[in-house]
Amino acid sequence: MRIVAATGLLAALALTACNPSIPEEAHAATAPETASAEKVEAHVRFLADDLLEGREAGTRGYDIAALYVAEQFRAYGLQPGGDDDSFMQEVPLFRYQLDQSAPQSLTVTEGANLPLELGSDYLISASSQVEQGVIEAPGVFVGYGFIAPDGSRNDFEGVDLNGKIAVIFRDAPSDLNTEERAHYSSTSYQRLSEAGAVGVVTLYHPVAQERYSFERRAAMDRMGRASMTWVDADGNAHSSASNLRAGATMSIEGAKKLIEAAGRDYDTLVKETVTGTEPFELGLTLRIEANSTHEEITSPNVAAILPGTDETLAGEYVVLSAHLDHEGVKPSFNPNEDTLFNGAMDNASGTSALLEVARLLSLDPPKRSVVFVAVTAEEKGLVGSDYYARFPTVPAEGVVANVNLDMPIMTYEFEDVVAFGTERSSLYEPVKAAVEGAGLTLSPDPNPDLGLFTRSDHYSWVKQGVPATYLVPGHANGGAEAQAKFLPEDYHRPSDEADQLNFNALARFAAVKADIARSVANMEERPSWNEGDFFGDMFAGEGE
Ligand SMILES: [Zn+2]
Repeated sequence: MRIVAATGLLAALALTACNPSIPEEAHAATAPETASAEKVEAHVRFLADDLLEGREAGTRGYDIAALYVAEQFRAYGLQPGGDDDSFMQEVPLFRYQLDQSAPQSLTVTEGANLPLELGSDYLISASSQVEQGVIEAPGVFVGYGFIAPDGSRNDFEGVDLNGKIAVIFRDAPSDLNTEERAHYSSTSYQRLSEAGAVGVVTLYHPVAQERYSFERRAAMDRMGRASMTWVDADGNAHSSASNLRAGATMSIEGAKKLIEAAGRDYDTLVKETVTGTEPFELGLTLRIEANSTHEEITSPNVAAILPGTDETLAGEYVVLSAHLDHEGVKPSFNPNEDTLFNGAMDNASGTSALLEVARLLSLDPPKRSVVFVAVTAEEKGLVGSDYYARFPTVPAEGVVANVNLDMPIMTYEFEDVVAFGTERSSLYEPVKAAVEGAGLTLSPDPNPDLGLFTRSDHYSWVKQGVPATYLVPGHANGGAEAQAKFLPEDYHRPSDEADQLNFNALARFAAVKADIARSVANMEERPSWNEGDFFGDMFAGEGE
């Protein structure tokens, strides 16, 4: 699971508990005949061991994990699904990070005398596009940078962003469906870039502050967190907002100063932006200096193919994914304590379930072919899955669905499953049937405000027009409490270790996932988006 500043997982602390009474027989019905707790435990204990050093993309620890996964696939008799008849698809990665030894600053050079302090008023973002970036340009406030598809709201109305520095709140209107809101929020920089902006200043919003505070983000920055993207065929770092050459993020305190210097009131602006924004020129010239280091590396996605048994349907592929990478070792994180991020739950558990699903399906293959892919660099921004979804190792037009596993919290006996996004496509019925067939309940998204639909790897396939779903255990039978404990205490921390997992639960989860995969891979009709679905229309075009 990937951290996004505007929608941190910590809001899950506010979860409400639910304890539906499920009869004892339900437990019995879900006990898997075939999924092995010992096998998933062995996978998790290997992948989350200190010897693998946190499996950060581009490191030796990750490469050992990738080799392990590949050789398990081989042991199950799967076909290589990577480059040149191997199990590895090498992903050309571009690593960029702030150069801590070089100057970083945000200043107001014209229109006001406003001293701003790095670390408390603002943070500078690393750039994938330029190493030494200095942008000096007038600032223009454009709300959420949102344009409604029906034309009812346009945050850019009447202002010219060309060559300017955009100033925004990174969110989208709250009256949108939460998944669509998350989509618009995550694509706001792209719209700024398309409108000609050359820089961006993102203002912290009170809601964002509550979810993933500026201070926590500042602490991450001090640790020197690297970002990644992939390198395109022309050798350029891929970016959906390549016009933006520099960026800064302001704390609420810093934002208040800036907005006041522009003759406006921050709190009023926060309120007004909800319903619609009158964009305005700040009357201030801003200067952002950002120095980044760039490095090209490679890291593999691990892919394997199980050929389908039906002559016609074997040309269609259901892609099952789980990210294999995690956060590595961070020497500056609690320097006197454990600094190795084992990532047992995130996502050794999902990868181990994927391996067990591969083993189970290989014993009795479904009609369609299945691609198993353990992706790299999810923690760097869904990079490995984006690369695989764009450049699949099987014919792209044959990829019909994606089912993703990321950070199933496996510390309790789950009794329900959440399948993000299924209600948007014909995947809903087969998924529901498989979940209920296992004696479990299919529950709706318990935390719609977190926008999880855009925060894990399945979204990479959604963006290619492929119906997708992302499976996690639900809130019933202690799930809400388990999540409320795990997220603040262990999520993206060195304490995410193997000992806390319930391996029986993980085996049951793998069994359900295998049922779901089989159910989807045996669907009579090719999976399709529902008529008029937002994501189907946006990425797959009409009539898909
Ligand atoms: Zn994560």
